Amino acid sequence: MSECGNQTTPAQNTMNSTSELIEIFSSIQGEGVLSGYRQIFIRYPGCNLSCEYCDTTFNPPPSCKIETIPGSGQFMEIPQPVSLNTVIETVHNWCKLLPDAHHSISITGGEPMLHANLLRQWLPELNLLLPLHLETNGTLPELLPMLIEHLDFIAMDIKLPSSASTPVLWDKHRRFMEIAIERNLSVKVVVSDKTTKVDLLTACKLVSEIDDEIPFIIQPVTAKDGKLAIKPELLMQFQAVAASWLSEVRVIPQMHHLLGVA
Ligand code: SF4
Repeated sequence: MSECGNQTTPAQNTMNSTSELIEIFSSIQGEGVLSGYRQIFIRYPGCNLSCEYCDTTFNPPPSCKIETIPGSGQFMEIPQPVSLNTVIETVHNWCKLLPDAHHSISITGGEPMLHANLLRQWLPELNLLLPLHLETNGTLPELLPMLIEHLDFIAMDIKLPSSASTPVLWDKHRRFMEIAIERNLSVKVVVSDKTTKVDLLTACKLVSEIDDEIPFIIQPVTAKDGKLAIKPELLMQFQAVAASWLSEVRVIPQMHHLLGVA
């Protein structure tokens, strides 16, 4: 007997593929150029960095939290791993319940590009429902070519060693931007009183060498009560330095803390 009858189509294989996920929820984007837009967030576990100011839980939990009603803040827990089928069904139902409410799907983490092999299968299916916005630390340029065609927006961090306490990553960031530039790329640096002007300047020069019109977001480290971890005068100096190199400089704190949403 032919084995064909037992074989699943590539599409079925894709729908049954699974991943550990941290959570799926609907909220307002609180960072970067898409601040204020409502998105569906799919948060993947794991990160290849350990930034000093990180406020995200990215270790894989025993179960995935999915909001019961989008925007309610109420969650149900489902066993890991989660199938693409479940994710698609969730997003599809939320789009039916709240037509036009969501601007895009945010693929976030941790560092979601650690799951690039899986995302290569998932992104084309998710992109049929909403535009896709990748939030990344911009340090895995070798994996971006396999995903780029399915992305509509890329929000990339440049890690400043003085404030993030990360290794020097300039070359990885440069190579990442060279590829990401074709997909509505914006760049964010997180600053605090620890940030040096040399680091900020290096980041600005790096971006300007790719394209001085790339939106460049300066994000002060923002506590949950909205307090900023940088003196206002230093923040203004950083803005002036950045604006002398780049044409699209904006200073935006983390908005979701102010809005009191996830
Ligand atoms: S890259 Fe992002 S998720 Fe990873 S440690 Fe840094 S701030 Fe946290």
